[in-house]
Amino acid sequence: MGRKPLHMLFIEQALAQDTNECIVWPFAKTKDGYGTTAACGKGTTAHRVVAILAHGQPTSARPHAAHLCHNRACINRRHIVWASRQENCQHSVADGRFGRGTQIGSAKLTEAEVLQIRALSKNMKQSQLARQFGVNQTAIGKILRGERWGWLEQNTQQVGSPANIE
Ligand SMILES: [Zn+2]
Repeated sequence: MGRKPLHMLFIEQALAQDTNECIVWPFAKTKDGYGTTAACGKGTTAHRVVAILAHGQPTSARPHAAHLCHNRACINRRHIVWASRQENCQHSVADGRFGRGTQIGSAKLTEAEVLQIRALSKNMKQSQLARQFGVNQTAIGKILRGERWGWLEQNTQQVGSPANIE
């Protein structure tokens, strides 16, 4: 075994971090803004490597490594989930490039906000959350029960670190 590539060291350190902040890839990026690395033998994107290491190999149903934070250079394992093509498109919708803010109800929430709502619901009433996030209480209830964004729940359960599990 030779010296570990710097890329791989950075990825390992990022995987070990428990932070909700974005961890921005400091090395080369693709023209689309994704971190690029040859750490796994051939050129691939850094967030995809992180997705595999953190969540296991993708399934055929969810082959896309998607960013919840919309920061393409980010490699925080908490911000990256496996997604289907459709979910990946929903990310783009929530991102604002395709009309975020013109919709009603919970549709205008981003994945990050949904995660915040779920986290905050331990200590806040649904009515408070609704006011805080500018949606109606029904939408909050649906989110908390998994009737909306249920797929996000499935993904993020794997993302949680032992420190987060209560
Ligand atoms: Zn991020």
